[in-house]
Amino acid sequence: MRLYISVDMEGISGIASIHQLGPGKREYERGRKLMTLEVKAAIEGAKDFGVDMIVVNDAHGSMTNLLLEELPDYVNVIYGFPKPLSMVSLMDEGFDAAFFIGYHSRKGIPYSIWDHTLSGVMIQRIRINDEEVSEFWLNAAVAGRFGIPVALVTGDDKLVAHAKELIPQIEVVETKKGLSRSAALMRHPLAVYETIKSAVRRALEKVKRNEIPVFAPKGPYEVSVEFTDSLIADFVELIPGVKRRDGLVVEYNTEDVLDVYKILELMLIISVGAKRLTGASYDNA
Ligand SMILES: [Zn+2]
Repeated sequence: MRLYISVDMEGISGIASIHQLGPGKREYERGRKLMTLEVKAAIEGAKDFGVDMIVVNDAHGSMTNLLLEELPDYVNVIYGFPKPLSMVSLMDEGFDAAFFIGYHSRKGIPYSIWDHTLSGVMIQRIRINDEEVSEFWLNAAVAGRFGIPVALVTGDDKLVAHAKELIPQIEVVETKKGLSRSAALMRHPLAVYETIKSAVRRALEKVKRNEIPVFAPKGPYEVSVEFTDSLIADFVELIPGVKRRDGLVVEYNTEDVLDVYKILELMLIISVGAKRLTGASYDNA
């Protein structure tokens, strides 16, 4: 069995503050250690189950958060930025299952740790065929495109409820209850790691029995992106095929969910450039 693990940071047990979430911030070294330990629990659970091959994708921020030297030597880690398909880079039909560790809610979900969709400061919302989507939705849809079921997710209470709505058979591990955007009632990380190991076993048993459907929302896809600032839309509308809907919203249509993903990545990169080129600035998240 071949397993793909995509690891974000906001949903990790023990993470609540922005100070834990990026290089140079005062609690970052602890944050990345917690991220490493949580994914390690999933890796060890999978190894115990008999998984032959595990690829881990560091999928947060700089994408160089995981402490590689503290992970078991039998995993390969996708590390650094940029990389094709970002949080689901190198996914293909060869994988039997995917786990999403430390995931978070889309922007606008109340009492959810660092809710955002791709970028909190640049993107207000993303709709696909009139459904407001999350990073979980987008990454699960790419997995689905390759026929891979998402078998396990960890994150706060709002995120795991969202995952269950989309994929009722998925195994979930709630790492904390969000009390605000930057406070949570934490389950103790050590307790979470134990829960993850047993959830991994149940998840992989379900995969073996073909009990988890792939998440494959039907195309064609009408993508609508609302930015936080019209300046960003001024630049993004230059992409061929992208239409300006109003001051903040652009639209793009495609048949392939991989193109949905790629155009969103491109819009995000242009958003950063838009601000740099005009001298405007952003805060974090
Ligand atoms: Zn993140």
